[in-house]
Amino acid sequence: MIEALDIHVKGIVQGVGFRPFVYRLAKKYLVNGWVLNAVDGVHIHAEAESGLLDEFVMELSQNPPAASQVREIDLKEVPLQDFGSFEIRFSEDEQVQETTLVSPELATCDDCVRELFDPADRRFRYPFINCTNCGPRFTIIDGLPYDRAATSMKDFPMCPACAAEYADPSDRRFHAQPDACFACGPALDWREHRADGGLSAEGSVPRGGDGPLAGEPALADGEGLLAGELVVPAGAWGPVEAPLTPVVRGENRQISDEILARAVELLADGAVVAVKGLGGFHLACDACNSQAVALLRGRKRREGKAFAVMMASVDDVRKVCFVSDAEAEVLRSPARPIVLLRKRPDANLVPGLADHLPELGVMLPATPVQHLLICDFAAARAKASAGMGTGAGACEDAGGIAGALPPMLVMTSGNIHDEPICKNDGDAWTQLACVADGFLGNNREVLTRFDDSVVRVLRFGEGDDAVEALQFIRRARGYAPLPLALGEERAGDGSSRSAACDPLLAVGSQQKNTFALVRPGQAFVSQHIGDLENADTFDAWLEAKNRYERLFDIAPKRLACDSHPEYLATKWAKEQGLPLTQVQHHHAHVASVLGEHGIDEAVCGFAFDGTGFGVDGAIWGGEVLLANRRDFERFANFAYVPMPGGAACVKHPLRMAYGALWAFDLLEHPGAAAALEALGEQAALCDKMIENGLNTPMTSSVGRLFDAASALLGLCAQPAYEGEPAILLDAAAAACATDERERAYAIDVVKNTATAESTAHDTSVLLLDAAPAFRALLDDAAAGEPVQAVALRFQWAFVQAVSTAAQLVQGLYGISTVALSGGVFMNRFLVERCVEQLQLLGFTVAINQDLPPNDGCVSFGQAVVAWAAETEDATD
Ligand SMILES: [Zn+2]
Ligand SMILES: [Zn+2]
Repeated sequence: MIEALDIHVKGIVQGVGFRPFVYRLAKKYLVNGWVLNAVDGVHIHAEAESGLLDEFVMELSQNPPAASQVREIDLKEVPLQDFGSFEIRFSEDEQVQETTLVSPELATCDDCVRELFDPADRRFRYPFINCTNCGPRFTIIDGLPYDRAATSMKDFPMCPACAAEYADPSDRRFHAQPDACFACGPALDWREHRADGGLSAEGSVPRGGDGPLAGEPALADGEGLLAGELVVPAGAWGPVEAPLTPVVRGENRQISDEILARAVELLADGAVVAVKGLGGFHLACDACNSQAVALLRGRKRREGKAFAVMMASVDDVRKVCFVSDAEAEVLRSPARPIVLLRKRPDANLVPGLADHLPELGVMLPATPVQHLLICDFAAARAKASAGMGTGAGACEDAGGIAGALPPMLVMTSGNIHDEPICKNDGDAWTQLACVADGFLGNNREVLTRFDDSVVRVLRFGEGDDAVEALQFIRRARGYAPLPLALGEERAGDGSSRSAACDPLLAVGSQQKNTFALVRPGQAFVSQHIGDLENADTFDAWLEAKNRYERLFDIAPKRLACDSHPEYLATKWAKEQGLPLTQVQHHHAHVASVLGEHGIDEAVCGFAFDGTGFGVDGAIWGGEVLLANRRDFERFANFAYVPMPGGAACVKHPLRMAYGALWAFDLLEHPGAAAALEALGEQAALCDKMIENGLNTPMTSSVGRLFDAASALLGLCAQPAYEGEPAILLDAAAAACATDERERAYAIDVVKNTATAESTAHDTSVLLLDAAPAFRALLDDAAAGEPVQAVALRFQWAFVQAVSTAAQLVQGLYGISTVALSGGVFMNRFLVERCVEQLQLLGFTVAINQDLPPNDGCVSFGQAVVAWAAETEDATD
C-alpha cells in the first residue's frame, strides 16, 4: 500500500548536507515527494510503499550525515498527493537562509580525506577539498543570501566539472558553496625568509598569482620583536632576518606539492612555519624537537602556557596520552577541537610543551592542508630515520630513553602574546614577520577570526557507572555560531512569552570575552574573542559584533553588560543610549547554567572565579547565591581577604599569600617562613598597604585563595600567565598517589555578624572561613608532608565546603538543585568531585555544558538575566 508521511527533522540539520542525504535515501527506497529547509529544521513529504517508507524513516534516523545532530523526528500521516518524483525544494523565506548560515566550520570528512589521498581522484592532494558534509562555513560568508557570490569563494568561478557536481542533487557536493578543485579553486601561497634559498630561487617553480610579488617591500630586521631579546639555542634557526621571498602560488598539483614539501622541509629542520587555517593562522613547529619548541616560545613571547599539538590519528595520540572512547569521539568529531588529554607517565614529551601539567592539548587535522602537512611530515621523518638506521620515528630528544614519539606538530595561535590572531596572509607577513620562517598561506580570504576550540571530557563516578560530560575551556571554531536555546517559558496558550521581546545584545565580560546576540528563541554566543584589554582586541570585538548583527539580521534594541565600571565592553554599552541591564558578574555565571539547562526555578549557585565586581564594591569570586533567572541573594561567601596592591596580586601570588596570612592570623606560623622570606622586603610593604587600606581591595575570590596556597607551597611564585598558580596546584594534587580524602582540611561555616554599617560590607548570611584550611596547610608543610598530598587535602576542603553549603541551603530553603560555574571549576578535580559528592547527597547538579565555566559564559548569562526581566515586563 502506498502511504504518505510528513516528516519534521529537528536539530543541526542545515549546512551539513542533510537535503542531498535525504534525496539519495529517497532514490534508494523509491520515495517520491520533496525535502525543504525551514527555520525549525528540515521538512520532508514522503510517499512510498509502506515497507519501503518504514525503511526510509529508519535509515533517516539511524544513519544521518556525520556533521548533523538529529534531536527529534516527528512523523505525521497525511493524504497522498501522488508525486511522480522526489525533489529538493528551495525556500524563499529569508529566515531559512539565515538559519543555514548557522553551521560552524566542519572538519574534512572521511570521504574527502579518502579522495585527498587517492591518486586516481581529480582532487588528489588538493589542499581545499570539501563537500556538503565538510569545509569552511561561517568564516567565508560575507552576506545574505548564502550562496557563493556572498562568500570569499566569489573570486573562484567554478570549472565545468565542479559546476556539474554542484548542480547534481545526487552528488555529495550538491549546493556545496565552497566546492572547488585545482582547476578553479583557491591555491596555497608560500613565502619565506630566505633571500638565497627557497622555492623560487631554485628556479624549478614559476611564480604564480597576482598577489604582492617581488616588489613587496622587505621587512625591517627584527620588526615587531627585538631580535636581541630572542633566546635562540645554538645550531637552531636564528632570528628571522632575511627579507621575505616573493609569493609562490600552488596553482597546480606540482607547484602545490613543492610548496608543501618545502614547508615540511623547514618544519623537519626545526623552523617555525605559519600555516593558514579556517579561522586564521597557526604557528607550527616540530613538537618532538625541543630546540624548535624553545625557538617558537621565545619568538612568540609565550613563556609558560602550554602548546597544543596536532597528530595524525587517534592511534598516534594513544602513544602519549590516555584516550577514552568519549575522548576519541570528540577528537574525531566534525568540530575537531583541541582536547585536553591526560599524559601517559611514560610519554617522555620534550620540554616546553606542557611541562608540569597532567594534561596535553591534542587535535587531529581539521583541514585538508593540515592533513597533507602532518601526513607529509610523518613520511619525511620516517624516511629520515630509516636513512639514519635508527628505526621508525625515533625522536631525537627521546634518544633511546623512552623510544619513539609519534610525529606531532605544535599548532598554536598565530599571534604574538595576547593580540588577536592573524586572519590573512598580508597580516601574517607583517605581524608574524619575526616569528615564522615560512608562511603557508592561501588566496582564500578568512572573513572572521576563529581560534581553535579547547575542550576536555569530565568523568563523574567510578568504573562502569561513570558518566562523562564535555567541558569547554574555549568555545570557538567548530561550535560558534551555533545558537543556544534560552529555555524560554511558555505562556498558558503555548505561545512563547518572549516573542514580543526586543532583540538584545549582551556585551560580555572583560576577560575571555564573548558576546551574545539574542532574538526570541535563540542566543548566538560569539566565538572566544579574547581579553578586552587592548585596542586591537576591542576592535576585533566590534568587528565580530557588527558581523553577527549583519549576518543574522539582528539589530539590538537593548543591551546587557557587567556591572564592573571599568570593563571596556561595559563602558561601550553605557555610551550607546539604549536601555541597559547591568548584571552582577557571578549572577551571570549562575544564570548561564540556568539558561543552558532550561531551569526556571531558584537554585543554589556556586560561582567561584578569580575576579568579579561585587555589589558592595569588593572583588567577589567565592559566592554561594540563591538565584533564579531574574535575581539573586548572596547566601554565603568566602570571608574577605585583603589583596595588597590590588590586581598586582594576580601576577605576584606571594603578595596574595601575605594577604591570606594576615587575614587568617598566620603570619607567625613556621610553615609560612619560606614564603615570607621569598617575599623579602615586599612583606613590609604589603603590611603597610593593608594596615593603611592603601590600594588594598577586599576579595572573596576562591581563585585568589588557590593562588595564595600555590605560592605558600612554593609551586608557583611567578606565574607566566593568569591562572597558572591554581593550575600547578591542581597538577600537584593530581600527582598524589593516595586519596587523602580522609585528611581533607576544614573550611568553617560561620554566621556572618557584619551589617551594612560594618567596614566589611559582606552582608550575606554565612561566611566560609578558609583559615583552618590554611593553618592545616602550613602545619603539614612545616612537618615536611609531601606537597602533592598537601595540595590534594587543600582541594578536598573546597569540595566539602560546597557540599556543606548546599546542604544548608537545602535545609533552610528546600532548594535541591545546585549550579556550578566560574573559572575555578576548570579545575578538573574540583568539578568532578563536587558533582560526585552533591549527586551522592541527592542533589540535582547542573554545570556549564555548551559554554565554558570561565568568563566565556558571562555574555550568555547576562542575556538570560536581561531576557527574563524583559519577559516579565512584557507579560505584566
Ligand atoms: Zn567532505
Ligand atoms: Zn573545479
